[in-house]
Amino acid sequence: MKLRRYLRGSGRVLAFVFVASVIWLLFDMAALKISINDVNSQLLKERVIKEREAMKQQSRVTQLMKMGFKHPVQKVDFAVTRDEKRFSSSVKISQVYRHGGRDQDQMLDKKFNLNQGKGDNVPKSYSSKSVVSEHEDAAALPKNISPKQNASIKKVAVNLDLNVAVANISQAPPGVQTIKPTLKKGLVETMHIAQNVLDNVDSKTNGKVKDELANNGTKMSQLQDKDAHPDKTISQQTPNKNVKRKEEKLVKTPAKSDLNEQKEPLKPTITLQARDNLRGNSTVVRKPGVHKVLSLDVTHTPRDADAVGQFGQAVFFASNEDVEVRKRWNEGHFNVYLSDQIPVDRAIPDTRPETCAQNLVHDDLPSTSVIFCFVDEVWSTLLRSVHSVLNRSPPHLLKEIILVDDFSTKDYLKEQLDVYMSQFPKVRIIRLKERQGLIRARLAGAAVAKGEVLTFLDSHIECNVGWLEPLLERIYMDRKKVPCPVIEVINDKDMSYMLVDNFQRGIFKWPLVFGWSALPEEYINKNNMTISDPIRCPVMAGGLFSIDKKYFFELGTYDPGLDVWGGENMEISFKIWMCGGEIEIIPCSRVGHIFRGQNPYKFPKDRQKTVERNLARVAEVWLDEYKDLFYGHGYHHLLDKKVIDIGNLTEQIELRKSLKCKSFKWYLENVYPDMNAPLVKAEGLVFNRGLRKCLALQKDSLSFETCDLSKQSQHFNYTWMRHIQQQGLCVAPQDSRLALLLCDSTKPELRWLHKSSNSALAEHLLAEFASLHMCLEGDPQGDSLRLSPCEHSNIFQKWQFTHYNA
Ligand code: UDP
Ligand code: MN
Repeated sequence: MKLRRYLRGSGRVLAFVFVASVIWLLFDMAALKISINDVNSQLLKERVIKEREAMKQQSRVTQLMKMGFKHPVQKVDFAVTRDEKRFSSSVKISQVYRHGGRDQDQMLDKKFNLNQGKGDNVPKSYSSKSVVSEHEDAAALPKNISPKQNASIKKVAVNLDLNVAVANISQAPPGVQTIKPTLKKGLVETMHIAQNVLDNVDSKTNGKVKDELANNGTKMSQLQDKDAHPDKTISQQTPNKNVKRKEEKLVKTPAKSDLNEQKEPLKPTITLQARDNLRGNSTVVRKPGVHKVLSLDVTHTPRDADAVGQFGQAVFFASNEDVEVRKRWNEGHFNVYLSDQIPVDRAIPDTRPETCAQNLVHDDLPSTSVIFCFVDEVWSTLLRSVHSVLNRSPPHLLKEIILVDDFSTKDYLKEQLDVYMSQFPKVRIIRLKERQGLIRARLAGAAVAKGEVLTFLDSHIECNVGWLEPLLERIYMDRKKVPCPVIEVINDKDMSYMLVDNFQRGIFKWPLVFGWSALPEEYINKNNMTISDPIRCPVMAGGLFSIDKKYFFELGTYDPGLDVWGGENMEISFKIWMCGGEIEIIPCSRVGHIFRGQNPYKFPKDRQKTVERNLARVAEVWLDEYKDLFYGHGYHHLLDKKVIDIGNLTEQIELRKSLKCKSFKWYLENVYPDMNAPLVKAEGLVFNRGLRKCLALQKDSLSFETCDLSKQSQHFNYTWMRHIQQQGLCVAPQDSRLALLLCDSTKPELRWLHKSSNSALAEHLLAEFASLHMCLEGDPQGDSLRLSPCEHSNIFQKWQFTHYNA
């Protein structure tokens, strides 16, 4: 009775709550046990994988060290051999960058007898007097000098200053690595992401994407029409750069490596922060909706796992196929024979850093027009480029694909291409009536583009999963950001898809040679950077980037006076940085590119002259006083206006003024501070070793005085123009005597060679203009100067400046 009374009223409620809590607790413990088991087994799995990878890495490194490779090079781990034969082979790409070719893979080059000549990251012509000293790298030889001439040159080897700044530039691509079979996801699984891709998207975007997919003519049947969950919470991990996304700490790597298979929505880890940098756009109110990056990969299903080159794997040939490979090589300067056998929609491994697929991007990203320019591109690579965009871009963001045919000569690029592309409503083809070169071809594409963002791509690329949204997100955050994907390497020999090193950015060395270089370690540490953070990039590689269309036109686009190919990446990069924008490499966006050893198309005029002329235009418009460094690194001949006509620059100079762009000095200090750019080569007192006195300028004439640093009359500069200069006056030979003339960079007779090599005449001052080797000499009898035939041991011909900057 007591008990019954007790259980009446509030007591009954209490008892019920107690029993319910006990049951709940039991359930909870069970769940906890399960999840601990899960976590444990996952941790174990991860450890095993990591250890396995570490071991592989170790053996790879040891192997490479044995082979003597300096840079990270890839070893193909899972090469698929045709005709059931497996050749053990490693592939080396030791140099992949814009203005150069690269050292060749000797094995394959020898095998195919491929003579690739684009590898000229150095200027190719020097003044006809140029002589190469023994210590100069053979690669720095002018291209027009044959090996025979080269040998004879080496005999006379004395002095001249080539100043070719190739020695320090990274000869490597951003370190190319192998795709390991253990890579993040089971490959086959990875490639069939499409089915689950929409599960993690909020219902609105989901529906929208599905509709767009249907409209796009993409095979909807491949997307399982799973019901979206309208109330699904999505991770609030912010896409804002201001919030550090420490990979391991903040964002838990999902248990299942295929992120799309994750069943549970992620818990909010970070709250969205207000965008503080919507520069020039501050009044725009954006919808706050975000979704997880869409890891789309829509393709033919079932994907033929056995297809050649499938999953980005290397393919090797039976020896009887070599002939075919060689025969077709020159069509594209890569393995065209192989490319033609690889499916146009092959899968490639998702090479993004782990957290990328978890990143959030805004629902209302701007749409983009993708612009491919091409001239005589290989059919299969062009198609693979287009398919990779169609298959791996969220359709609602892909406004159109514009193919700009830069007056190609190949028949298959005409009607056959029209017919093929007609099945894709989003693809438009524009045909130029004459050859314009890639710069003006891109402008033709931009002129008709309807998207809010322009995305330029080369016509031999493969966009990877999730490549587009991270780019657009950056522009959404700040319309003056110009994001570039990480450019990965599609091997030109075996067509495998290769990873590159992290933290690489595009840089230049003198004379405006593009290259890759890793961010300094202390910079990475200081900024607490992770491998998925955007990387400030002083110079873009050129071929692949997105830019807000309006901003592109505000910047005045490219200089339309640039011809065919070359230098345009420098031009747009300086323009963007100096006129208020920023260039970034976005590690979560990855696109493979075939780096060719040689341009497979013809240059209407001489290739070398075309590139030099483009670079000179860039130098004249953007480099201010630093243009001396450009000319001074092997381009003196460009100063002679009779030799080269760089065209009219008025518009470009006006544009720079009207945009109120910053100085090149500002660019160097703020964007590329690790660049060494001294304005003069040497400066201070000019000491004569024989006289033990210093050169002085007295009442417009030259004499010798006891050295005195405090006397301005004894201070001279040795400039990039090779002038010995005080104020605007230059030391020059006149008759057999020396005079002071107004400095003029176009006059070769004012130029002196000094310290241009380690040769016996390194300390001498050689008159560049004199037909014989004539040197500046202090007259042992008195204090005058004269010009005498060079003698390497004559100490009256040896000179020393107080400071040498270069
Ligand atoms: N291109 C063009 N017209 C030209 C030269 C190049 O349309 O006169 C195209 C070319 O087909 C390619 C892109 O511009 O899609 C970039 O050229 P390339 O790949 O040769 O440059 P690289 O990658 O070697 O820097
Ligand atoms: Mn290219």
